[in-house]
Amino acid sequence: MSYAARSVDGVEVIPLRDAVGPMGGELKQAPSEILTGGSPGDWAGLSPDEWVLHFRCYLLRGRTGRTVLVDTGVGATDSPASTWAPVPGTLLGELARVGVAPGDVDTVVLTHLHSDHAGGAVVDGVPAFPNARHVIQRAEVEWVGSGGPNPILERVLRPLTGMVDAVDGEAEVIPGVRAILAPGHTPGHQVVEIGRLTLTGDLVLHPVQLANPAIRYAHDEDPDRAAATRQALLRRLRAEGGLIGTAHFPEPFTEILVEQGD
Ligand SMILES: [Zn+2]
Repeated sequence: MSYAARSVDGVEVIPLRDAVGPMGGELKQAPSEILTGGSPGDWAGLSPDEWVLHFRCYLLRGRTGRTVLVDTGVGATDSPASTWAPVPGTLLGELARVGVAPGDVDTVVLTHLHSDHAGGAVVDGVPAFPNARHVIQRAEVEWVGSGGPNPILERVLRPLTGMVDAVDGEAEVIPGVRAILAPGHTPGHQVVEIGRLTLTGDLVLHPVQLANPAIRYAHDEDPDRAAATRQALLRRLRAEGGLIGTAHFPEPFTEILVEQGD
C-alpha cells in the first residue's frame, strides 16, 4: 500500500514507505517511558504502551526536473539500523515503483545521521545513489566524525567520501526546496522546507509531540534543545497554518491549523 503524493509550490512530494514496525532490539521501550514530561491528556487517542513506527523517506521532483531524495531509510539486512529497526528497508523497490532508478537521484538530503535515516545511503559498502550529492549539515558530519569509531562513520560517511555537500545553517537544495538546521535530536539535524510544507525528520517524532511540543524524547542528543526547536517551528506553523511531513507517524502529512486566539 502506498501513500498519496502531494504537489506543493510546483514540487511533487512523494512519500515512500521504507519499513513499518515496532522499535525493537536494544531500543525496545514503551513510548510513555521515552517520551516524557507530558500529561495523560496529551496521550488522548494514542497508545502509551505501543509504538509502531513507519520509516518513511520522501522523493521530490522539482520544477526543473531535478530528483531529490530526503532520507534513505533503514538500509539492508546488515545495516547499522539492524540492531533495533525492521530491516531490510524497501526504499529501492519503492523508488522503482514510481519509476526512479538509483542513478536518477541527483540529490540526497539526510535530515540527520541516525541509522534509520542514513542506513540506506550505502549498500554493500558502496553508495546506493551513485550520482547524488548528499546534503548534510556540517555540524552533523563533524559530530559523527568526532565521536571515535562508530558504524555510521565507518559504514556510511566513509563510503560517501567526495559526495557530501556539507552545508551550514540554511541552504537551497533545488529551487523552491531549502534545508534548514533544526538542532537538538542531533547537533546537525535539519528539516526540509518546500513552501508551506516542512519535512520534519525527527524534530517531530511521535504524534504526542503535536499535542504537547515540550514533551522530551529520551534518545534526543539534547532533548531541551530539540524541544525548543520543535516549539519554535510549531508556534510559527500554528500562527501561519502549514503542513508537516514526518518520518515516523502512521500517515505522512499532518495539517497544522491556525490556532484562533480569543
Ligand atoms: Zn528516526
